[in-house]
Parts: sequence; C-alpha cells; structure tokens
Amino acid sequence: HAFGKNRSKQKFMARESQQELQIKFARRDRALFLVLVNLVFTGLLIAHLLTSSGGYRFELDQVGFEAASFLSVFVMFVAATLIKVSLAERRAVLIGLFALQTGNLLDASTGIFFNAPPVWWWIGDGLTFTGEVILALVVFQFVRLTNDLANRDPLTGLYNRSYHMRALANLLKIRHNNKESVAVIAIDIDHFKHVNDVHGHAFGDLALQAIASAVNGFQSEVNVISRTGGEEFEVIVDQLDEPAVFALADRIRLVIASIDLGENRHLTASLGVALSHVGEALVSLRQRADAAAYKAKNTGRNRVCVAD
Ligand code: GH3
Ligand code: MG
Ligand code: MG
Repeated sequence: HAFGKNRSKQKFMARESQQELQIKFARRDRALFLVLVNLVFTGLLIAHLLTSSGGYRFELDQVGFEAASFLSVFVMFVAATLIKVSLAERRAVLIGLFALQTGNLLDASTGIFFNAPPVWWWIGDGLTFTGEVILALVVFQFVRLTNDLANRDPLTGLYNRSYHMRALANLLKIRHNNKESVAVIAIDIDHFKHVNDVHGHAFGDLALQAIASAVNGFQSEVNVISRTGGEEFEVIVDQLDEPAVFALADRIRLVIASIDLGENRHLTASLGVALSHVGEALVSLRQRADAAAYKAKNTGRNRVCVAD
C-alpha cells in the first residue's frame, strides 16, 4: 500500500512543479510602453541608415552590425516584457537588457549620428558588457533554480525520488563493476498520520522539515539523502560493511528521536538497512530495505532492522 501512496504524492508534486514553471503573461500596458520606446529608436536608426548618403565614421558592415544588435535586444525586450517565467528574476532581465540597449544606442549614435568623441563609444561598450554580464548571471541562476526544481523536494530541500533513483542506479553500476556493494537505509516516520490528525498538517510539515534537516547532518558521511515519499526518507551509502551501516542507521534513528518539536513532543522512526548483492537490481535492493523497515515497524518501531 505504501507504493500506491508514494505514487499519488508524486503526481501531486509534479503538478506543483508544473504550476511553478507555467508561463504567465505580464501586465500589457508596461510591456506596450517598452515596446513602443524601442520601436521608435529602432525606426529612427533604420530610417537614418536608409536616407543618409554615408559620411559615417564606420563602414557600412559596422553600421549593419550595430543595427543587428539593436534589433536583437529589441526582440529580447519584447519577449521579456510579454512573457514572465516565474523562476527568472525579471527585474534583473529588464535592467540587463536596458544596459545592453543603452550601450548599443550610444555605440550607434557615436559613430553614425554625431561623429562624437570615442569616449562615448567606450562608455557604450562598457554598458553593453555590463548588460551582458547581468544577463549571463540571470541565466546561471535560472539554470540553478531549474535544476533544484527538478532534483529536490520543495518542502525539505532534500533530493527527490527521481534524483534518488538516478543516483542509486549510477552508484550501483560503478560499485558492481568493482564487485563492491551499496547500502540503502530506508527511514519511515512512526505514527505520522496520528501526528497530522492531532496537531494538524502544518505541524506535520514542520516536523518533516526538522527531521530532514537533522538527517541532513549526516551529509558528510553518506552519498545521498532523499525524501522518497511523504514521511519516507532514504539514504544511500557505500564503502561500509554491514555492522558500520547498521551503526550509522542507529545514529540516524537516535538523532531523529532526540528532535524536540516543542512542548516536549518527539517522533521516532523505523529504519531498514540493505546491502546490495553483486549484480542486484535497484528495485530488489530497495524492496529489501523496505521490508527491513517493515520488520522494524512490526517488532515495536523506533529501531533498525537489517534485511536478510
Ligand atoms: P507507521 O508508524 O505505520 O508508519 O504509521 P504512519 O501513520 O506513519 O503511516 P502511514 O503511511 O499510514 O501514514 C503516513 C502519513 O504521512 C499519511 C500522510 O497524511 C502523512 N504525510 C505524507 N506526506 C505528508 C506531508 O507532506 N505533510 C504532512 N504534514 N503529512 C504527510
Ligand atoms: Mg510510510
Ligand atoms: Mg510512517
């Protein structure tokens, strides 16, 4: 039955992520203003290029280059004002584009309109460069956030089930090639439904966060710590023998039991440990860890059992 529950929880989380990534339309009036301003400048530049008969500081290909950068930033402006991806820092995008476009404008004006001293050209290039750096940082941050959204659980910040499976599959492949084993520790919080029923779902969420942060304290000793289901966590650890994994799991159990959730409220967990046989499939390894945790439940909870 635990399997079915995990799956519906996952569906819920997937929908939550989709909503985060949904493209929303921004306010039209502000967008329209920016588009019009850009359109006027672009129009002026192109009209000037078409009607003048030379005498520029730049060669024509240079002028074409300026016009092309101007137009491309214009297109980015339109996109950034009409489309709002909630993950991107939109103000930074607009500031970056504004710096980029002002730089372009200065560059173009210096050589084409006024034949002004080159210092204006340098300022223009400086602005363009600044805008490019800002946009690069925005892209970097966007990629980082998207990665987190795909690999981490939003409530606890631990790795999610999908990352967990990939990490375990990779590690199993590497270790099995060397005839070594990988250990999985399944952690299931005891009587968690009761906690929700008595203290409310919000308290349950806080408790899950406190447990996650406590288990995360073992980060330096293990490979991966994940929230694989609602009140289920899983730890991957390698290069340890069975007694060492058992000792580690028991320390995790004690740390969870020692969390003070306020007013002397405590929670316990049942843990199952399984070490992979050479060549054992991921599903079988996890099933054995799960079965061991189930055994821990049936023999009194707040304990660690090792899989056969
Ligand atoms: P057992 O000791 O046998 O494990 O009992 P249990 O109540 O922990 O087991 P069960 O699997 O029946 O219940 C798990 C509960 O965890 C059910 C669900 O309401 C709760 N839960 C799952 N995900 C979340 C969550 O994200 N937040 C909160 N607050 N509760 C959750
Ligand atoms: Mg459970
Ligand atoms: Mg439980």
